[in-house]
Order: sequence, then C-alpha cells, then structure tokens
Amino acid sequence: MAASEESLRKALAEKQSAVEAHGNAVRALKAAKASKPEIDAAIEALNSLKLEKSSIEKQLQAAVSGSDGDGALSREAFRQAAVNTLERRLFYIPSFKIYRGVAGLYDYGPPGCAVKSNVLAFWRQHFVLEENMLEVDCPCVTPEVVLKASGHVDKFTDLMVKDEKTGTCYRADHLLKDFCNEKLQKDLTISAEKAAELKHVLATLDDLSAEALGAKIKEYGITAPDTKNPLSDPYPFNLMFQTSIGPSGLSPGYMRPETAQGIFVNFKDLYYYNGNKLPFAAAQIGQAFRNEISPRQGLLRVREFTLAEIEHFVDPEDKSHPKYSEVVDLEFLMFPREEQMSGQSAKKIRLGDAVSKGTVNNETLGYFIGRVYLFLTRLGIDKDRLRFRQHLANEMAHYAADCWDAEIECSYGWIECVGIADRSAYDLRAHSEHHVKNVFDEGQREGNIDFIGTNLDKSGVPLVAAEKFSEPREVEKLVIAPVKKELGLAFKGSQKNVVEALEAMNEKEALEMKAALESKGEVEFYVCTLGKNVPIKKNMVSISKEKKKEHQRVFTPSVIEPSFGIGRIIYCLFEHSFYTRPSKAGDEQLNVFRFPPLVAPIKCTVFPLVQNQQYEDVAKVISKSLTTAGISHKIDITGTSIGKRYARTDELGVPFAITVDSTKDVTIRERDSKLQVRVSVEEAALVVKSVTDGLRTWEDVWEKYPHHTSGSADD
Ligand code: AMP
Repeated sequence: MAASEESLRKALAEKQSAVEAHGNAVRALKAAKASKPEIDAAIEALNSLKLEKSSIEKQLQAAVSGSDGDGALSREAFRQAAVNTLERRLFYIPSFKIYRGVAGLYDYGPPGCAVKSNVLAFWRQHFVLEENMLEVDCPCVTPEVVLKASGHVDKFTDLMVKDEKTGTCYRADHLLKDFCNEKLQKDLTISAEKAAELKHVLATLDDLSAEALGAKIKEYGITAPDTKNPLSDPYPFNLMFQTSIGPSGLSPGYMRPETAQGIFVNFKDLYYYNGNKLPFAAAQIGQAFRNEISPRQGLLRVREFTLAEIEHFVDPEDKSHPKYSEVVDLEFLMFPREEQMSGQSAKKIRLGDAVSKGTVNNETLGYFIGRVYLFLTRLGIDKDRLRFRQHLANEMAHYAADCWDAEIECSYGWIECVGIADRSAYDLRAHSEHHVKNVFDEGQREGNIDFIGTNLDKSGVPLVAAEKFSEPREVEKLVIAPVKKELGLAFKGSQKNVVEALEAMNEKEALEMKAALESKGEVEFYVCTLGKNVPIKKNMVSISKEKKKEHQRVFTPSVIEPSFGIGRIIYCLFEHSFYTRPSKAGDEQLNVFRFPPLVAPIKCTVFPLVQNQQYEDVAKVISKSLTTAGISHKIDITGTSIGKRYARTDELGVPFAITVDSTKDVTIRERDSKLQVRVSVEEAALVVKSVTDGLRTWEDVWEKYPHHTSGSADD
C-alpha cells in the first residue's frame, strides 16, 4: 500500500476514536450539568477534531482516487465518451443487436474491420516476416481426442458460483475482486491492516484454489450481486463450446479455445518443411471460442475472438536467440513475481538485466517479451500504461518454465492482452504420448479413426526433433524385447496388442515392470487396446539396459508461445488513442482518435473546400492517385462545412486531410496538430503515402513544404 494511503488510514482511525471519546466527554459534561464555559470549550474541541477528521477523509479520498475514487468516476466518463464514439461510428457494435444482442459477441463495423486488418497486417510483418515463421490456418472445429490430449477437456475451466435461489452464474474470482475493489475505494473506515489484506487478496487472486476462493467469499459475506442471495461453493465450469462432427452424433468435437493445438498436431510436418532444423516458429491467426461465464467489459471478455499465436520450437538445452542483442537494451515496466507478492509495484527494468539475473527464464523468452513490447508501442499503445507481469506460482501451469503477460492499463484497470509462456515440452509430449486408450475409453473408435490419421492400434505420432552428432556417442539405452512366442501361446489372437503395449512403455514403466518381474515373477499389465489387465510372466519379456552407439539425440522440443488477444489489444488501442478537444467556438467537445497512420482505418480524406466543379475534378484526380498508391481514403464532396468534415474524420482517426482550394496546389492537414502545408496537386498523394508508409514523418513534411495558415480551412 502507498505510504501516504496507509498513514492516512491510520490517522483517520485515530481521529475517529478521538471524536468518539470527545463526544462521550461532552455528553458526560452535559449529564453532570457542568458549567456552560466548560461545556462550550469541550464542544469547540470536538468540532475542531471533527474538522480534522473530515480533512483527513478528503485527503484519503484523494489518495484512493488517484488510482480509484474520483479517478473511477472520470475513467467511467472517459470510457462512456470513447465507447459512444466507437459504437456510433461503427468501430464495433453488439452482434445481433436488432434481437437485443447476445452477451460477449460483437461485430466489427467498417472502421473497426480496417483497424483490425491493419493490426493483423503489422503483426504478420513484425513477427511472421521478421522471423520467417511458418504460418498455418487450421479449422475451428476440433475433434475431442485432440483437446483431450491437450488437457482442455479436463482442465479448461473457470471457477463458477451460482445464486442458490435463482441459479444465476457468476465467476467466483470476479465477485471477490469486485468486493475488494469496492471496499478499498468506497469504505474509508477500514483499517490500514484490512486495506493491506484486501490489496494482498487482489494481488494474489489468480493464485487462489477453489477452496481458498470459497473460503474468502464466505469470510467476506459476499452474496449474489443482483439478489443478495447466498452463493454456492465455487466449482469448475468448462469454457469450451461442445459440438458434434458429422450427422451421427457419435463424434464429439469442440470449437477450439485457442489456435495453438492446430500447430502442435502439425509439428512433424512443419519440422520436416523446415528442413528438420530447430529453432523455428509456426504462427496462426484465427477465431477462438470460449463460453465465458459472465462476459462483461465490452471487447475485453467475449465468447468468440481473434487470437494470433506463435509457437517457437527450440532445443530445451539451448534457449539462446540469435537476435536477442537487438532487444537487450530495451527498458520498460516489468512486474516480477516477488514484487507482486510483497505488494510493490511494477518497475522499469532493462530487459537484458531481467534475463541475466534469471528473473526472465531464458533468452528466447526475453527476446519475445522485447518484440511484443515493440509491437504494442509501435501500434500506439502508451508505453507508460504497458507492463509485463510475471505469473505467480499457482497461476502458472505446472509444466511451464516461466510465463509473462503483457498487460495494458485502460479504464477497466490492467488487462492481460498477450501471454508469453515457455511451455517446455508439455504440448508436444501430450500429443505424442496421448495413448489410444482415451479413444477406446470414450467408445469412439469409428468416429476417431480419421482424426488420429495413423494406425489406431498405436499410440500418438512422436512429435520429436533430432540433433545429429558429428561423431557417434556411446549411450545407455533401455531395450524392451517382448518374447513373441511365449506371448502368442498365452494370449493367442491378442498377442499383437500385448506386444505393442509392452513396446510402448516409457522408461519408468519398463523399469518398474522389470523390478516387479524379478521380485514376484508375474505382474498385472493394463493393455489399453484390450481394455483390460493381462498377466505378464518373467519369460514373456526381457527388459535390459544396453550400451549403444548413437548418431543423434532425439528429444521433444520446448515451445515458447506468445499468444495475442487481438480484440483486447484493439480495444486498449482505442482507449489510448481517444481524446477530446474543444471546438473552435468552444461550445462542444470534439472526439479524436490519434491512431498512428499504421493502424488508422482510413489514411486520408479529400474534400473540395467549396462545392465547385473544378475543385471536385481535382479532388477526383487526387483520389485516383491515392488509389493507385494503395492509400485507403475517403472523398467527401458534400457541401457540409469544412470544420464539420474535419470533425467527422478526426472521429475516425484519419491522420491526413487534403483540402482542395485551388486547381494547382492543395493543403494537407495533420489531425492532431491541425497544422497544414501546401503541396502541388501532383505531389499530394505521394506526400501522404510517404508518411503513412513510414518513409518520413509529418515533421519532415512540415519542414519541407510551405505552411498554410488560413483559418478558413480549419475548425
Ligand atoms: P490465454 O490462452 O487464456 O492465455 O489467452 C490468450 C489471450 O487471449 C489473452 O492474453 C487475451 O488477450 C485473449 N483472451 C483470452 N480470453 C479472452 C476473451 N474471453 N475475450 C477476449 N480475449 C481473450
């Protein structure tokens, strides 16, 4: 907690007790019929204590508002203004609006589509092109076997609580978060200790188990927000939309909750495509579906959204990155685990220091954190409202080596927009080792034959890479040799199943079997393709360790995964770009989006200053050259006043406006400075193109061309 806030809470508690004590003293004096001067003096002292108390209250309110109180109000007002503009100008709109919409589903309208496609184009340029990534495009409908192997069927859950009377569902952690925030912002009487406790709960919210979350909800007496009814204990709710593939209904599937699995299951082919070389990255942009429990916060929590994901495959023994030196000196806000747990705030840290101290697990992870920082800030995200927060111990999957979220601050607080995780070898192993048992257990043999794409009697395809040795190396290897003759005598037609199950044992299982056979002579062994245990005797299999010469090392690559929620980034970009400024007459506030040309939905508008055939013809000529130059633009030949036309395009974040006020030269106006230069009709399109393509800046243009100062062309 900030020192001033903490000391103010303490001072307020002390003043409150002093006011109560003095109040009692005044009442006692009155009861004892003390003299008037004595009572008046006591009342005066009480009043001055009350004044002091109210002054501390004001200071505390201001301290809390710095981040929350009044701040929350102005943030709310800012959001209202931004969202009204965004929805009115069709950046995005609730889907199926004429049917009163569906929570968590949004459409992008024309300028929204243009911004999204610019963001994605830049993503492709900044990541796919820069790193020669292999882009793929996989289906959204995914068979169950894939998501069972990845762990999503069993574990892709959020904790939910239900209103015990109405059955309305809520996300348990959101209720606790709202409770803590509200208490901190609105209840100035809570002690400094209680405030610190609530802040700790907020900082460690993602770390809480179902039991701990349930216990806190009970301890704080949190009830259903709409009805105040009691709540159930938290329980997991799977977020995937279930479907079935084909008409039989026998083949369960899901709408993918992320795009990553499409890449993992293609690893073998992509590795081959890459010349069997590591490291390499694959990338995918596509829709993801999550049946969020109670979507809120507009585009930030939706049930269908665009993800852009990178899976960078790397040798677990060498996580260096050849281009790491390009990002090593970047300095930005980082929020390591220890700082979060001890209640500190994010600090500016040099990326190279975070990696060399081991705060960030390895160079490749650091490299991507740096690249994500550059990507977001070049899009127009404010670097002071962007931080990289490390996952807390419980928040991070058990297999992950390290994980950082790029969080962007907007009117809703700090929002996770990009997750950057070193997921070790988990995903590739999960698909390699996913044994056919799962398929049979679900009784889906027929439906799933096509999904596995391989002989159903075998476990998954090994998703591994190999390092070729220049000289062969001697290694100790486990050899499992089923004695087929004995197995045939014992199991007849099932011999093949037993042989393959024995051969599929991993080292741990094989060594356990060897030990058991040596001590007991016989073990029970589960053969999943038979769906039962069979007795294995000592003479049926030989398990040994042998020295062998190896020419290569076969291993499962680690994967480093940056995963971008495109809608969240776009929404934060909208907020970071939005501002209002007074109209020239000062009678209204005009809305502006200061999008960099890179993301602006339209780069330029062209208007004749007045309705006049000659000017319209010039405007059409310029529009044609803009089209030829590939610059998105809008031509407006309506007779509306020029000020109104500027205001309309500022609201769409159009960076440049060309106004035709002669047949020889025209003005180009820059949106934020409102400065104008004069350029020839022939040059106009190329000047705009050079700035929007980033070949020069507006400042360069301002330096080179004559300035235009007529007020008539401005608002
Ligand atoms: P995750 O796989 O949960 O780490 O999510 C990857 C990214 O997807 C996050 O960093 C978010 O930017 C985005 N995301 C996750 N859930 C949603 C949602 N319900 N609506 C919009 N974006 C989301």
